[in-house]
Amino acid sequence: MRLSQYFLPTLKETPAEAQIVSHRLMLRAGLVRQMSAGIYAWLPLGYRVLKNIERIVREEQDASGAQEVLMPTIQSADLWRESGRYDAYGPEMLRIIDRHKREMLYGPTNEEVITVIFRDAVRSYRDLPRNLYHIQWKFRDEVRPRFGVMRGREFLMKDNYSFDLDKAGAIRSYNKMFVAYLRTFARMGLKAIPMRADTGPIGGDLSHEFIILADTGESAVFCDKDLIDKDILGRKIDFSADLQPTVNEWTSLYAATDEMHDQARFEKEVVADRRVAARGIEVGHIFYFGTKYSKPLNAVVAGPNGENIAVEMGSYGVGVSRLMGAIIEASHDANGIIWPEAVTPFKVGLINLKPDDSAVSGACQTLYDKLGAAGVDTLYDDRDLRPGTKFADMDLIGLPWQVIIGPKGVAAGKLEVKNRKTGQREEMAPEAILARFAA
Ligand code: ATP
Ligand code: MG
Repeated sequence: MRLSQYFLPTLKETPAEAQIVSHRLMLRAGLVRQMSAGIYAWLPLGYRVLKNIERIVREEQDASGAQEVLMPTIQSADLWRESGRYDAYGPEMLRIIDRHKREMLYGPTNEEVITVIFRDAVRSYRDLPRNLYHIQWKFRDEVRPRFGVMRGREFLMKDNYSFDLDKAGAIRSYNKMFVAYLRTFARMGLKAIPMRADTGPIGGDLSHEFIILADTGESAVFCDKDLIDKDILGRKIDFSADLQPTVNEWTSLYAATDEMHDQARFEKEVVADRRVAARGIEVGHIFYFGTKYSKPLNAVVAGPNGENIAVEMGSYGVGVSRLMGAIIEASHDANGIIWPEAVTPFKVGLINLKPDDSAVSGACQTLYDKLGAAGVDTLYDDRDLRPGTKFADMDLIGLPWQVIIGPKGVAAGKLEVKNRKTGQREEMAPEAILARFAA
């Protein structure tokens, strides 16, 4: 993509309304624009990142055996009356009346809808277990939307729902999601720590929140430092095997959000120099809640002896749009964003230092074409601007690699490659650059 033709409205000034660094950088780097309180439009660069985050979430869900569906954003109020949650949900729910005076709502979550889909289709214990997910916009009329996409009103969530015959099966499903979540966040370059959590209005008796440590986080968190150092990606995970031992390895170490924190236990279980007391951002939340929805909504299957059994359920959420803010909170410096390679909108930023010099522009064009042919996503800054502006913009938008091409480099046959994260610079021949990035 040529920057001269790209819709990238960056801002020089720091927007006054943005209180935290990720929000400021998302606005400054032209990723999103606020349309109303807590409601955002995604601009081309931001939308590319959102789709990358979504892709990783999807790949890990698929690998775990969950199946993708797409449920509507608009739901019927009657469904929520059946589950008993319509009144309980309160003013966070956006309630809508259609032209026939039917009460509808913009879904804040999907337990009711999925339970009914399941109920109407599955009759026998032989059809269990099932795990269905979707990635869909939610609306919650948050009292205080803030911090940009971190606490929006409209936001993108991956949510899924597991159906099992008994509690042991439901725990197996829960464990799969637990491990899938560890992998999902690790692949985005994040250290997400599972913390015992309150089940809140969803109900049930087993729940973990996955939390990224960041000073601007809304939750106070306490954990064993060993959890931060643990690595899931180095392991081979077989989702058809019993994952309880893996889960135990993580859950046996102390980690809790403030609601669940027990200071005495913390001090007993964790030696002083491994105690982490910090703030964090919730990026995922998993629940096992048994028959809380299957009973009122009558989601039963025939068991082996013909008896009716209410299915055991769990639900699992990832804040897909919130993750973009969380990633930036975790990965930035004074000059801007530093995208992890896995989610970056483009891998390489190519900077043409002298667009009016035909040798320089020729060298840029040749490398740009070759990178494109090798499938390397490249953003080519071919604009007629001074180098300082180009450097600042490229640092701001945070692509992991910059290739800087000017008259001296072209004459010497060596181009400059800069690593955005470390700031390290190398001189490399064009062929070597191509080989490096195409690999
Ligand atoms: P929170 O405690 O932050 O309000 P929640 O417990 O209400 O979150 P869940 O219902 O578990 O959230 O939703 C699953 C995930 O969706 C959360 O872990 C979070 O990452 C994301 N999420 C929830 N509310 C919002 C919001 N208002 N804006 C952006 N993402 C959100
Ligand atoms: Mg929560």
